Parts: sequence; C-alpha cells; structure tokens
Amino acid sequence: MTTKDLRGQETAKAMGAALAPRINALKSRRIIPTLAIVRVGEKPDDVYYQRSATRRCEALGISVEVYAFSEGIAEEQLVNEIMNLNMDEHIHGILILRPLPGHIDDAVVCKALNPGKDVDGVTDRSLAGVMKNERRGFSPCTARACIEILDYFGIEIAGRHTVVIGRSLVVGKPLSLMLTARDATVTVCHTKTRDLTAIAKQADILVAAAGRSRMINREYVKEDAVVIDVGINADENGNLTGDVDYEDVRGIASAITPVPGGVGIVTTAVLASQVVEAAEQS
Ligand code: NAP
Repeated sequence: MTTKDLRGQETAKAMGAALAPRINALKSRRIIPTLAIVRVGEKPDDVYYQRSATRRCEALGISVEVYAFSEGIAEEQLVNEIMNLNMDEHIHGILILRPLPGHIDDAVVCKALNPGKDVDGVTDRSLAGVMKNERRGFSPCTARACIEILDYFGIEIAGRHTVVIGRSLVVGKPLSLMLTARDATVTVCHTKTRDLTAIAKQADILVAAAGRSRMINREYVKEDAVVIDVGINADENGNLTGDVDYEDVRGIASAITPVPGGVGIVTTAVLASQVVEAAEQS
C-alpha cells in the first residue's frame, strides 16, 4: 500500500492564502494584527517555538512582539505583565510559552489572561467553548491543527472510529472533544489504558499525542488507517522524532503526518489565524 504524506506545509499555505484578504481588510482600517509572545527563561523548546511562530506570523503580515522575562521572575510580577498586555489596545493576541518554571502557578497566570486575547486556547472560557462546541474563546492550536489537516486533505471524520493517545489539556482532551463535535466515535487512551495496541489497531484515524519517541509501530496501526503524529521528541541521538515510527508504519497506513513537516507547521498557522480573528473581534 502506498502511504500518503499529509504535509503540514500544504495545509498551512492554504490557511495563509485564506487569511490574506482578512489581514488586508484589517490593514485598510489601520489595524495591524499583533501577537505578544510571553517567554520566561531560555528553554530551547520555547525559543524554537517562538521563532517558528514569529516567522509564520510575520510572513503573513502579522506583527509579533516578544516579552522575555528572566527564569526567576516572581509570579505576581508576571501576572502584572500579562495584565498590562491585556490592557494594551495594540496587542490582539497573547501567547504564553508553557510550561512555566515550577515556582509559578500555571493556573494563576492563565486566569490572568484576557480570554478575548487568548489565541492559544488556555483560559477556562476557551476550554468551555471547546467543551460546549460554542464559538467563544479560541481552540488550543495543536488540537485545531489536527482537524485542519484532516479537513484540508478531505479525510472524512464523521462516523469514523478515532483513537486519541494522550489526554492533556493542550492536545488530547480538546482534540477528542473537537472530534466528537464532528461526529467521530472517539476513544481516548492514556498511561492506564489496558491493551493499547489492540485499541489503537481498531482506529480508522489514529492520533498519537503521548510524547514518547517512536512508540507507535505497525503493531498499533490498522491497514489503511490515517495516522496523525503530534509528538515532538528527541531520540537518544538528539534527533527530532514523532510518537510514530514513520518508516515502520509506511506501507500499512493510508496516510501519515511526517515529523518534522506535519502538525507543528499547521499549529503556527492556526495561531496566526486566531490572532487575525482576535484583531477582527477587537
Ligand atoms: P503531556 O502533557 O505529557 O501528555 C501526554 C499524554 O500522553 C498524557 O495524557 C499521558 O497519559 C499520555 N501518555 C504518555 N505516555 C503514554 C503511553 N506510553 N501510553 C499511553 N498514553 C501515554 O504531553 P502534551 O503536551 O499533550 O504533548 C504530547 C506530545 O505532543 C509531545 O511530544 C509534545 O512535544 C507534542 N506537542 C506537539 C505540538 C505541535 O505543535 N506539534 C504541540 C504541543 C505538543 P497520562 O494522562 O495517563 O499521564
């Protein structure tokens, strides 16, 4: 069987093209859609994501401002900085790079964020919107990226058995709700799931979001299944890997997102589109 690569670049390009007229319309009203990225410390993952998000946004004409704070910033000061960004009218969206250092309570910081600027979908209002399938707040970007890829490549979701491995608030949980809202039959798996291999093998669409390098091999994949690999990991040699053993699964799956070059690219495209939406609503 030939396995098709679901390249994120194609989806992201189409999303960018759809955004162009909306960005132009904003600019004609002298509104430059602007994203603030809040970074605490110098974690390489954060710096990498900041750079790719900035590149994607700026290429589309979205302005990006980085607010970088030292690793030791006090929680109260960080909350004050977020409040200032909430009130700053020229900032439309705020992305806080997480996880934050251990001395800062993630929940306190997310609560401080104005839900109208929550373009990364971390506030309670955004998550309630996902839960209730209502247009309030914004979707968590990676979860929405998975749906965008399926839609772009014309992969039917309704009625199909979708197995999501991972139940984090960032990816697995919101994605399982979003897939349910699209009429998929969803099974959510996690570390306590018994016989993961057998469950995964029933999936028409298998989403791997566990953060375990190459854990999904052909034993987990049904012939003809579509595989969405969300994982971004490093293997023992420091190479970037997904959660899926791409080479092993090729020839079994009908389609797969590569890593790199799959979900990650679309995640920044979703972020850009949510900044534009926030600017339109402002
Ligand atoms: P996370 O918070 O660590 O959550 C991982 C989830 O996977 C948990 O629910 C965990 O189960 C489950 N899990 C872990 N090992 C498992 C195993 N062996 N079998 C079954 N379930 C297992 O991670 P995350 O933030 O959701 O991220 C997941 C992956 O996606 C990471 O590689 C991350 O780097 C990547 N990511 C990619 C993007 C992107 O743009 N492409 C964005 C965000 C994250 P328990 O709940 O039982 O612990």
